[in-house]
Amino acid sequence: MSEPTASPAGLPAAGPILVQKYGGSSVSDVAGIHRVAQRVVAAVRQGHRLVVVVSAMGNTTNELLALARAVSRDPGRRELDLLVSVGERVSMTLLAMAIADLGVPAASFTGSQSGIITDTNHVAARVLAVRPHRIENALQQGNVAIVAGFQGVSRTGEVTTLGRGGSDTTAVVLAAALGAESCELCSDVDGVFTADPRAVDGARRLAALPLDAAVALSRAGAKVLHAQAVERARQLGVELQAAATARPAGSGTRLPPGPSPDETVGIAVDDQLLLLPLDGVPASAEGALRLCTTGAGVPQALLDARNLHGQLAGAQPVATVTAVGRRVVQDPATLRRALAAVADQPVLHWQSAGEQLTVVLPRPAAPAAAAALHAALVAPAG
Ligand code: ADP
Ligand code: ASP
Ligand code: MG
Repeated sequence: MSEPTASPAGLPAAGPILVQKYGGSSVSDVAGIHRVAQRVVAAVRQGHRLVVVVSAMGNTTNELLALARAVSRDPGRRELDLLVSVGERVSMTLLAMAIADLGVPAASFTGSQSGIITDTNHVAARVLAVRPHRIENALQQGNVAIVAGFQGVSRTGEVTTLGRGGSDTTAVVLAAALGAESCELCSDVDGVFTADPRAVDGARRLAALPLDAAVALSRAGAKVLHAQAVERARQLGVELQAAATARPAGSGTRLPPGPSPDETVGIAVDDQLLLLPLDGVPASAEGALRLCTTGAGVPQALLDARNLHGQLAGAQPVATVTAVGRRVVQDPATLRRALAAVADQPVLHWQSAGEQLTVVLPRPAAPAAAAALHAALVAPAG
């Protein structure tokens, strides 16, 4: 992908560009939109030029998808993309209005208007190029540019979306294309924790997390970061931070380039998976396949249910719990300790390879397994 790294030629030397992304919970209501507007304006007053990527308000994307499923058993992916892209278009315009009311000019742009060019893989499209001319113009004219996250346009002019949680990717590729000083992913948590702080007691915030470990944790389901976004940041050399919308910039987790540490850096849960016999996996599920394994002699497949949007007969809802760190793979004593910690859980499969241990369980067992692995493997603060 050469174009996202293109130099930001033509921009006035009026201050560094900062890309901020605000997730759905940060703009879930009118008060949230006003709070985000104030945080954006504070960064403008500090001398930054701001590009703000915004997600759909609160639960909007889920509600739109539920509406589609209520209307149709098997909604077409092109129509789904047009439908859900509306969510981000609502929040981007409202945020632009709120920022303008604070005396700072702001203009909002859809993914297509922002030059986010993707392939045609509807519902899980990949960004091929970024041509943010209109964003550059908006900045040049002294505006804050607001961009609808999660959406792009194919070369044939079709609206596409980047997979659930994909606004993070919009922010990263724009930061690269604009030569931004940094890209801040703002959410309802204070940064990246050693486990989901809403689910695991004792999870603690990491001040810094090497990008390789962030990739592993996000791929394993830590949804505070979108896996593709972190992969792109690593590939494009984007300076990335995870921050809290409720706190000033700089107080979250830095994500510098670097390898995963040996010690277990965190535990991630992915509870949006389906386990089914490999024979039962339809061709349309290509891309959703996570892991193949054997159970009772039958080859089984683990599928990501998030971007399937159809029904699969005979699939069991399961979760994976993953511990990221090399030691649990390489040191038999650590692996024994980990397996002992989940011995009383209904583990269906486990696999230890590369830089992580993954256990597969029925979904209801995932929180207890995550807590047990966190207690056994993640070092307390110190
Ligand atoms: P946004 O809408 O801002 O993109 P998400 O809901 O996608 O936010 O991600 C934030 C959520 O991720 C948090 O509310 C938290 O429950 C969850 N989460 C999962 N794993 C982690 C982790 N390791 N650190 C922080 N938050 C996590
Ligand atoms: N609104 C989209 C979703 O709910 C994209 C995002 O939040 O990043 O998945
Ligand atoms: Mg998210």
